[in-house]
Amino acid sequence: MPTVGLDLGGTNIYAVVLEGEEVIGSTKRSTPNDGDVGDLVDELRKAAKKAAEDADLSLGDLDAVGVGSPGIVSDGTIDGGPNVRGVRERFPLASTLSEAVGTPVSVVNDVTAAAIGEQRLGAAQGAQASLTVFVGTGVGGGLVLDGQPYEGSFGGAGEFGHMIVRQGGAMCGCGRRGCVEAYAGRRAMEVAAERANAGGRRTRLFDIAAEKGKDRITSGVFRAALEEGDELLTALLSEAVEALAAGIASSVNLLDLEVVVLGGGLADKLGEPFRADLERVMAPLLFLQPPRMRLVRAALGDEGGAIGAAVVARERA
Ligand SMILES: [Zn+2]
Repeated sequence: MPTVGLDLGGTNIYAVVLEGEEVIGSTKRSTPNDGDVGDLVDELRKAAKKAAEDADLSLGDLDAVGVGSPGIVSDGTIDGGPNVRGVRERFPLASTLSEAVGTPVSVVNDVTAAAIGEQRLGAAQGAQASLTVFVGTGVGGGLVLDGQPYEGSFGGAGEFGHMIVRQGGAMCGCGRRGCVEAYAGRRAMEVAAERANAGGRRTRLFDIAAEKGKDRITSGVFRAALEEGDELLTALLSEAVEALAAGIASSVNLLDLEVVVLGGGLADKLGEPFRADLERVMAPLLFLQPPRMRLVRAALGDEGGAIGAAVVARERA
């Protein structure tokens, strides 16, 4: 029986219909940003319906629906965090959406969903213990342990972006210092570049953004500046790689992971050279030598989170 997976992002909702190992339907819709949680649930229902229709099905044909949501997920409730506008306090997403779509709904953290998607159908297939790291606007993580998504005691497992890699280091968006995300998140690097630029440091980043008609330093701007050999960006990326390497190596040393999957908007744009650089910096930090774990690039692309959410729905239904 088919299940639908929904990936609730800050910009888009991705939806897929999964049957066996095949994605048989999909759709993408804009995440409503009016701050109304009722509209958000309605948009999720529409996304599930449209994806089902794309597979020549209706909502009634579905076994279950799974949702990957940013933030801390526990017992089907989500906290909004900065990525889900309108959700100020814990919101019972599973029960509310279940009533709207008429099937059981499972909710899991979005990167945990991507991690289980990659483990079942993507780059970490067959690995019993894996970590998926998403490097984009922020830095997220998801764990699969003993072949199952690991959500922790209180729903907070996998917050890879907030592993502290430098005590008293750079300020993170979470209000603490020295987190991986404070060095490797696209937004954090953008802020650091703005500060350096204001302080007179030369960089082409802002000119390239203007030439591309962008009002922010997108992942595409990063790549273009890197190809030009921009000195400031090269320095920032080197710090990002060091922070990621410390975080990943510490995770592997703690959990003896078999595979670490690298994905997310910025990592995808920077591609194989970024992965290889990270592997080179990380290798000496690993306790088990020679290293046996594999650092691989995500295989499922933009739909990975939705695919993982559909897997979770199927396995929990
Ligand atoms: Zn943090």
